[in-house]
Amino acid sequence: MRVVVGGGTGFVGTALTQLLRSRGHEVTHVSRRAGKDRISWEQLSQSGLPQCDAVVNLAGENVLNPFRRWGDAFCREVIRSRVETTKTLAKAIADAEQPPHAWVVVTGVGYYRPSPTAEYTEDSPGGDFDFFSRLVSSWEAAALIPGSPTRGVVVRSGVVLGQGGGAISQMIWPFRLGLGGPVGSGLQPFPWIHIRDLAGIVCHALETEGLRGVFNGVSPSSPATSNGTFARELAAALGRPALLPMPAWAVRAIFGAERAVMLLEGQKVVPKHTLESGYSFVFPDLPGALKDIVS
Ligand code: NDP
Repeated sequence: MRVVVGGGTGFVGTALTQLLRSRGHEVTHVSRRAGKDRISWEQLSQSGLPQCDAVVNLAGENVLNPFRRWGDAFCREVIRSRVETTKTLAKAIADAEQPPHAWVVVTGVGYYRPSPTAEYTEDSPGGDFDFFSRLVSSWEAAALIPGSPTRGVVVRSGVVLGQGGGAISQMIWPFRLGLGGPVGSGLQPFPWIHIRDLAGIVCHALETEGLRGVFNGVSPSSPATSNGTFARELAAALGRPALLPMPAWAVRAIFGAERAVMLLEGQKVVPKHTLESGYSFVFPDLPGALKDIVS
């Protein structure tokens, strides 16, 4: 299969590209910079979609970049980098003479309202109560191609855990030094997925004929994981204590109140459709996932 991946140069894209190539597929990235096995977004808009069987979008400015102040300009970039890239790929698919078979967009569980108790499946309502939920709604709406023969899949991802990027790379050093701990109260749910499984679900969606709709990209044990559990398990995997909580005020001071919600609150998300679709998780449990990542 020939697969075009927007944002394929990033953290998840690198894992997905490795997995797809290991399964004999060819991968071309769409990036802000053209290069080997890579076209630019401008080239895509001008010349259309290269001949391919499937398209994935993973592009997006890193929301939790602590070096970018949370303000209007950054919010616009967070939205534009997801919604406009998704629209550009959707238009290229709609205009293609030979449309691809499958189109997968990875969005986020921020679609569901944070709650310490409610459990959400793919059928649960959401998408209309704060910045992140509305962002996911417009992102997923941008992916729709009415009347298209191409089947569409949305994977709503939790916090992606893997080596060399994402959440773990931001917190591993305090934990290695024994200075890690829960964020805020630590009681908030922590929806997580191992990067190998997120790449695996996308690959499964591309390879399984007939699969369409929304799939939650979280581990099956994720609804039982709180931020405090995560901190304890990460510390245990590193053989360190997890004694120092990061107070809520410090999180708000670093990330801004709106963005701090992502760390101070969370959702219990169940991968119901994902499991029903026949996907088998490589890392269903947190200790195994963390052992793999920190070893
Ligand atoms: P990365 O931060 O690694 O970024 C992915 C790619 O997006 C980059 O390689 C870059 O490609 C492109 N990109 C970054 N900023 C911009 C920008 N301002 N404009 C256009 N393109 C940009 O993301 P991840 O791999 O971690 O995540 C992939 C997708 O999954 C994202 O959409 C993210 O929102 C979503 N997601 C990720 C989670 C996580 O925990 N990592 C959790 C939930 C959802 P290039 O430089 O080649 O242009």
